[in-house]
Amino acid sequence: MLPVRYQLLITAVITSAVCTAAPVDMTHSFSGAHTSASMPAPAGTFRIVASFYPVYITVRNIVKDVPGVSVTALTPADTGCLHHYHLTPDDLVRLTHADVLVINGAGMEPFLDMIARRLPELPVIDTSRGIRLIDGPRGPNPHVWVSPSLAISQTWTIAAGLARQDPARAAAYRQNAAAYAGRLASLRERMVMELQTVTNRAIVTFHNAFDYFARDCGLDVVAVVQPEADAQPSAREMARTIATIRAKGVNAIFAEPQYPAGVADAIARETAARVYILDPAASGPPADAAYIETMEQNLRTLREALH
Ligand SMILES: [Zn+2]
Repeated sequence: MLPVRYQLLITAVITSAVCTAAPVDMTHSFSGAHTSASMPAPAGTFRIVASFYPVYITVRNIVKDVPGVSVTALTPADTGCLHHYHLTPDDLVRLTHADVLVINGAGMEPFLDMIARRLPELPVIDTSRGIRLIDGPRGPNPHVWVSPSLAISQTWTIAAGLARQDPARAAAYRQNAAAYAGRLASLRERMVMELQTVTNRAIVTFHNAFDYFARDCGLDVVAVVQPEADAQPSAREMARTIATIRAKGVNAIFAEPQYPAGVADAIARETAARVYILDPAASGPPADAAYIETMEQNLRTLREALH
């Protein structure tokens, strides 16, 4: 039986979800987590919850095998970007057991206000703090993690935040963060070096997930297929993208594994460009090396597409 205040909390969330007709997904799978909601961490465990997949992978690399710490993802590993994510009653229950919540920040978590209202005591580590954000038509671009440079910054911010919340393990967090930041730095060097000889740097991406990544690699995102992450582009937006592709001589349109490629294919048919898959690592397997492996695959794709 849950304590009364949690029951009230759940009732409140269910009521608000029904009122706004938001989809309430009660069938989360947390196979990617070190612990699951049905198997609470042992008493005395320091419990870290990461808002979504890329943050979860970074936290895993900082915690590694530090004893007495559990890491879980708040949202399922296949959620992708959280642009339109609705917090479920289960999510809030899980957060009541957390010692700290680690978020991407920069507007990626639209439910933060609700968490601040319901759980004002919960410490939150904002991993995009201190990062200069790129402004988009609808506010700051939140896709900082897709850039290995900024993933390094996020790694250090998480390590510092965990050290503050859990000082007994501060040295271990910092040591693991240094090792992971080193691997990210060599990934970034490889990307810059291997893309140096690319002749056509104009690319079209699916949504605005690759702006920071492109800056790292010296690529130029001249258009996005889908200006709104979860809404099909209008006929006028598609026509504008086709015109840009023709005018700039773009030869690669990058779809994302998280979204259907239909619109990208339709645009490609009107132009000389081909469709490839570029993965923003917003979803994937629950493995420490997953982010770096995804970026290495992206690098291979870019070299093939932009020769
Ligand atoms: Zn996104």
